[in-house]
Amino acid sequence: MRRKLVAGNWKMHKNLTESQALITEIRGIVRDEFRKSQAEIVVCPTALALASAAKLVEGTDVQIGAQNIHEAIEGAFTGEWSAQMLSSISVTHAIIGHSERRQYFNETSKQCSLKIKSAVSEGITSLYCVGETLEERESEKHFEVIEDQLNEGLEGITADEMSNVVIAYEPVWAIGTGKTASSDQAQEVHAFIRAQVEKKYGKAISDTIRILYGGSVKPGNAGELFSQADIDGGLIGGASLKARDFFEIIQAAV
Ligand code: PEP
Repeated sequence: MRRKLVAGNWKMHKNLTESQALITEIRGIVRDEFRKSQAEIVVCPTALALASAAKLVEGTDVQIGAQNIHEAIEGAFTGEWSAQMLSSISVTHAIIGHSERRQYFNETSKQCSLKIKSAVSEGITSLYCVGETLEERESEKHFEVIEDQLNEGLEGITADEMSNVVIAYEPVWAIGTGKTASSDQAQEVHAFIRAQVEKKYGKAISDTIRILYGGSVKPGNAGELFSQADIDGGLIGGASLKARDFFEIIQAAV
């Protein structure tokens, strides 16, 4: 039985005061209303708010994730931060290879494999994002694209290290667009991803790895998506910026 996971990606939203207010609101709702411990909850604010968010959730069921990391431990990489720095402030997760990082910052799957390696070495769980563009789906290349992203992104990651990896399937055409993959479309890709993991790492790992769906998940569609056999929760963008919507999505996962 895989434990479901719901992660909120705040992207570049909320200043420090607003971030603290939203974390405090989420923390309060989770403390008062979250009665089932089957689901893991992760919130990924901007880098600016990570340290204070991690302090605010100490001792609660909410964990904090970064939206990116650099692959090196330290060095002359202006504007970046490392897995070691994140673990020193009790950040437990990191989104790696989000499509916006790939699109606007030219991140490649090969680079993602180094970032995952670095995260894993610090005990940080990687939420590794894969997914096709609209053009790739319309030309029926989506399976090929995702297979390449998995092969390159997980290159050099050992079977043991896979216990610190979660995969997120995020069709680029569904991110922030209001268009959601149908539950059948999502399930089909999730089953494909699980089969790829089995091919590379064997059945024990493919049975336990969590595969999240991301792309315009809302309280109204989360239940149906999360009830699919191979969908183990969600990576939530826009809807994670409203505490009540985010919490309803979490409840749909338990
Ligand atoms: C995301 O940013 O990972 C995402 C899925 O965004 P949204 O839910 O807004 O589509």
